[in-house]
Amino acid sequence: MTTMTNSSPLETIYLKDYQPPTFLVESIKLHFSLQPERTLVTNTMRLKRAAETSTKQPLRLDGRQLELIKVTLDDQLLAADQYRVDQESLVIENPPAKFTLEIVTALNPKGNTSLEGLYASGSMFCTQCEAHGFSRITYFPDRPDILTCFTTTIEAPQKEFPVLLSNGNLIDQGTLADNRHFAVWQDPFKKPAYLFALVAGQLTTLQDSFITASGRKVAIHFHVEDQNRDKCAHAIAALKKSMRWDEEEYDREYDLDLYQVVAVDDFNFGAMENKGLNIFNSKYVLAQPESATDNDYEAIEGVIAHEYLHNWTGNRITCRDWFQLSLKEGLTVFRDQEYGAQAYPGGGRRIREVRRLRNFQFPEDAGPLAHPVQPKEYVEINNFYTCTVYEKGAEIIRMLQTLLGVAFLDLRVYAIQRVHIAKMLLQLLCFYNYIVSGHFVSTSSRANLRPWIKS
Ligand SMILES: [Zn+2]
Repeated sequence: MTTMTNSSPLETIYLKDYQPPTFLVESIKLHFSLQPERTLVTNTMRLKRAAETSTKQPLRLDGRQLELIKVTLDDQLLAADQYRVDQESLVIENPPAKFTLEIVTALNPKGNTSLEGLYASGSMFCTQCEAHGFSRITYFPDRPDILTCFTTTIEAPQKEFPVLLSNGNLIDQGTLADNRHFAVWQDPFKKPAYLFALVAGQLTTLQDSFITASGRKVAIHFHVEDQNRDKCAHAIAALKKSMRWDEEEYDREYDLDLYQVVAVDDFNFGAMENKGLNIFNSKYVLAQPESATDNDYEAIEGVIAHEYLHNWTGNRITCRDWFQLSLKEGLTVFRDQEYGAQAYPGGGRRIREVRRLRNFQFPEDAGPLAHPVQPKEYVEINNFYTCTVYEKGAEIIRMLQTLLGVAFLDLRVYAIQRVHIAKMLLQLLCFYNYIVSGHFVSTSSRANLRPWIKS
């Protein structure tokens, strides 16, 4: 993700308290009946108790600002005394080892001014789920180590919301009574809830395509407001360049049949890498020679590449918990910097990156907001989308690559041995954090680190 704002409860979360999930979500089917002031969400999940979980452990699902309408467990409607619900969660005591849970909730997208979860803005519905926005949409274990396959049905009035989008591939669509229509999206890859996305509104779709290294055709759809249809050529070209670059440099091919980008003024964050459906604020997509500067063109290419490169570093290879934020952001910034070095050769870009580091990250590290790349605790994770986590994290990856050689970032191995390598990277990050504590490590101490890294 690129830039954030915040909200949420005041409770300190500690890394040392991490516990593996007690229940796993095998699959989730979501049905949205969209109305600006009262949207109904039906969430049907297949859940199972994790092997190491004791049978006494209740099921606890996160959920905020939701109106709970009903809960059904294996087709049995639960009475109010069979679950507990409060401001933050829904708890079911003694659930079976394996079961289907259907939860119906209502929410008010128009009244959602937090801009997390599902919100209505202007004539659009839009979502933002990183870091914990999904729990404003439905009850779910909203943590990055819960990955599941999403199938999403969206239903809305056809005239006001002709375009209905979610992650993955479109598998069905049609019309309904009362001038409504629907679309069904299926994402075949497991993903954490923070990568879920939904967009509905009046958008114009620009179509292009990309042939992958193995010869697969990927459709590219850019959805924009109609008056912006002539301003996407640069962003589409940049996307295709990044797709090719990731194949050539990291042997990473795009994995779905469709890659979608939505660019709207109503998206308050910079850009978000939702799986197969990136959402951008228009300023990071739209450009035409009459009004955009060279810097605008370069910035658009940078953000498009960053969000695309997340498809592997972040989306397919994701974080265990939010303390690992830099494992996706630092690593992806490093990768987009490497992309930029090739797209804009000559070294000027690298000088600007270092300048940015010195002008923003160094003061952060020298001031009251100093924090490690991997924090040990947080009250609000949205406050950690910082230069330290992003840019310093990227520099640490760069140092590791210098020390360990290019092969250390072999994403083929990384994808297969995610847990093992993530652990190793983390240990290295922690160690570097400890050593550098605000300063970059000197050449002599690098030499001292070598034996430790080798071991
Ligand atoms: Zn990012």
